[in-house]
Amino acid sequence: MHELTMAAGILDIVQQNVAAADAGRVRAVRVRVGDMAGVVPDSLEFCFEAIVADTPYAAAFLEIDRVPALATCGECGCFTRLAQPLFVCPACGAMGMALQSGDELQVVDLELDDTVEGAA
Ligand SMILES: [Zn+2]
Repeated sequence: MHELTMAAGILDIVQQNVAAADAGRVRAVRVRVGDMAGVVPDSLEFCFEAIVADTPYAAAFLEIDRVPALATCGECGCFTRLAQPLFVCPACGAMGMALQSGDELQVVDLELDDTVEGAA
């Protein structure tokens, strides 16, 4: 299960950053997920919730920003949004569009709750 591996990777990043910043509770984790990253957002959310359940980040929720897949054609230079993983230029039919964005999976932001009071 692909998304489970990714959720584990996201948790790693959260743990590293929280430790480094000596921060409080994590309220939200914002990730950018490209349309071509091969990730099902619902599934990633589900896996993340499952994976943080036994950690101090159980209350953190995953906020997913979708990034459209944009590609340019090497033949005619057409710049377009790809609707599906078919790298065929819609203008001239050439194969091998170069993806400019849309395959990313990155943690962009951690929203921290620095008003932790009476934490047990
Ligand atoms: Zn083209």
